[in-house]
Amino acid sequence: MTNKEGLLIVYSGPSGVGKGTLIAPLIEELGMTFSVSLTTRSPRPGEEQGKSYHFVSQAEFERMVDAGDLLEYARYNQNYYGTPRRAVEQTLQQGRDVLLEIDVQGAMQLRRSFPAAVFIFVMPPSLEALWDRLAGRGTEGAEEVARRMAFAKGEIAMSQYYDFIIVNDQIERARAQLRAVIEASRVRAPHMKKFVEEVLHGHA
Ligand code: ADP
Ligand code: 5GP
Repeated sequence: MTNKEGLLIVYSGPSGVGKGTLIAPLIEELGMTFSVSLTTRSPRPGEEQGKSYHFVSQAEFERMVDAGDLLEYARYNQNYYGTPRRAVEQTLQQGRDVLLEIDVQGAMQLRRSFPAAVFIFVMPPSLEALWDRLAGRGTEGAEEVARRMAFAKGEIAMSQYYDFIIVNDQIERARAQLRAVIEASRVRAPHMKKFVEEVLHGHA
């Protein structure tokens, strides 16, 4: 079934909740395209240019905002993060599903412009568990962990505006739910609109 647009999957949750851990094997398994964002933050050890992010200067980021090259963007913890518009639009037009791992501010910008998108929020079982994971990952210092924890409450409060909330308690169970949600979203009526029209009216 190629005569339909790809599904836009908006995927959020507080830093350290396990978004990357849960989604990593599903990207290939479910044939999704991971949208590589732009950011002005510095790479963490092991992060490769163009793979986890396109790391850019603030001037370059601002130039892209002014040119309308970003689908959405937000400032998170002193840095800018944004989604490149053209890559996402082209991939969707090719019928491939695109996953955006973005913060709650960016997600809310897309709520109105993409009515057929699915919005998924990953929730920690508790704030204590979130702190353990964020600190345990060891990629940020104590101050940065504290800053990210301070954002987490506000982010969790925004989960009510999402379509689905996956509680990441046990990885395999949470991942199975995530898989089920993505597969079901692929056949939701708003996403099937174009296909239904083509069945009724055929190709132009
Ligand atoms: P995010 O992408 O949301 O910032 P990560 O995927 O990097 O988070 O996960 C943060 C840390 O938590 C990692 O060290 C990961 O191994 C761990 N983690 C992820 N899911 C779980 C879980 N269900 N239980 C315990 N630890 C987890
Ligand atoms: P990190 O610094 O941990 O990689 O990301 C910090 C936050 O920025 C996370 O919530 C992450 O999902 C979010 N983020 C990553 N890319 C984008 C993006 O393109 N747009 C927005 N709005 N947020 C993003």
